[in-house]
Amino acid sequence: MPRTDAVLADPRLAATAERLGRAVVKDAIAAAQQRVRQGEIEPEDVAGAALAALPPHATHLRPVINMTGVLLHTNLGRAPLSPAAVEAAAAVAGPADVEFDLATGARARRGRTALAALADAVPAADDVHVVNNNAAALVLVATALAAGREIVVSRGELVEIGDGFRIPDLLVSTGARLREVGTTNRTTLADYRAAVGPETGFVLKVHPSNFRIEGFTGSAAVGDLARLGVPVVSDIGSGLLEREPLLPDEPDAASTLMAGAHLVTASADKLLGGPQAGLLLGRHDLVERCRRHPLARALRVGKVTLAALEATLRGPAPPVHQALHADPRELLDRAEALAGVLAGSGIDARAVPAEATVGGGAAPGVSLPSAAVSLPERLAAPLRTGDPPVVGRVEGGRLLLDLRAVHAGQDGDVARAVLAASR
Ligand SMILES: *Cc1c(COP(=O)(O)O)cnc(C)c1O
Repeated sequence: MPRTDAVLADPRLAATAERLGRAVVKDAIAAAQQRVRQGEIEPEDVAGAALAALPPHATHLRPVINMTGVLLHTNLGRAPLSPAAVEAAAAVAGPADVEFDLATGARARRGRTALAALADAVPAADDVHVVNNNAAALVLVATALAAGREIVVSRGELVEIGDGFRIPDLLVSTGARLREVGTTNRTTLADYRAAVGPETGFVLKVHPSNFRIEGFTGSAAVGDLARLGVPVVSDIGSGLLEREPLLPDEPDAASTLMAGAHLVTASADKLLGGPQAGLLLGRHDLVERCRRHPLARALRVGKVTLAALEATLRGPAPPVHQALHADPRELLDRAEALAGVLAGSGIDARAVPAEATVGGGAAPGVSLPSAAVSLPERLAAPLRTGDPPVVGRVEGGRLLLDLRAVHAGQDGDVARAVLAASR
């Protein structure tokens, strides 16, 4: 059995140890030595086997090709960053002027350039702030504006956002009390008016972003709530900054503020297409109370996030925008080309029309015409564990690889992954 330090001296492994760290390389060598003991490989192949088994990066998190047909898949990290955002994030990995004024040499407002980009993108907002995610934005608003007081909210908007986390529980955890009004399907302005009083911290509107109630329904308009004499906070969810004609029911920050909301909260990694962050936009005095609250320090974002957010706001349209606006005819052409290549290698592959969804807590019930490569279901597991992992969805006994969330430049990777998985 070759000794570990002898194998580590292999120049290729030594170079990898420089890049990924010694521990990762030693683990790979130990695994290769084990394979020798089990008679799977020869002793002289240890270095090669270790090299082949090493992860490409110093992390076990792996980039995945999302072919689920869910554009914003929370379990797959929601919005993919634009190349501009990736570049901006990498550029500030070292020391950066995140909280420093290079002109004067003095301390400066943290993240001011990202905040300015957000303010420029939504002129209807007097002021803006950025925290770790939308849940953090809600916690901060509830703490700063309603701890020990009441948040008036409709029973139809007590939403579970996923993985067992519920907005009402989140709000109550801050020490605020919920004053529930109306019913599941209907809540009127009069319901809110009857509940608002000296104990009210604010009225909260929550966008039902992952479900739909249809039939005999009714809710009060933000503009009417804004005249009740207390702050109105609107959690719009998806982070659309302006109207998206393709998604007419999805609220956006500009229209919601224009309609009268005093404060809007949103996620940055849904339809905005940016990094995980929570956005607060609205009246200066309310944003300032949130920004000045001690909790704000615990919820602040890092420079990498700020850089990616600014590049998303100022740069070219992010991938989620392209996926949303992809032409179904072109998607079908791509699916046909891919299926043709695979069928040529003897794989049972065909192009089929498919239905994609926005997902990630946005546009529930909206179906986007798409196209997929249909494959035998047994390929699902080897594709998930391949390199790169490809995640599709199983439907009617077939594995569908939906192309809507995939950049056309990746079709070659998909073809290679399917060929490797079917070997
Ligand atoms: C997604 C969502 C949240 C949670 O946002 P995170 O950024 O995941 O914390 C809260 N409210 C609504 C309406 C949402 O859609």
